[in-house]
Amino acid sequence: MDPGCGWLYGNVTGTTIDNTAPLTAADRCDRCGAQAYVRVVLPVGELLFCAHHAREHAPKFATVATHVQDETDRLHAEHGSGARALS
Ligand SMILES: [Zn+2]
Repeated sequence: MDPGCGWLYGNVTGTTIDNTAPLTAADRCDRCGAQAYVRVVLPVGELLFCAHHAREHAPKFATVATHVQDETDRLHAEHGSGARALS
């Protein structure tokens, strides 16, 4: 692997990750530190995003992600009608 091919390829092991476990309160958005509700699995690792940043970065990771675990439904369930619609 070319080590200089971009930020997506830094500090990852390259091993296959079994990461289908539900996200928890300990999982934090890689961008702002809020609770993560979306896990983006990449060929070289994974990223965690809150609902806000998942939407913001969706056009970028959609082209490279091998799996997107979207638990934003839980956001609505936990916060009720106060949560913004994500559609
Ligand atoms: Zn965020």
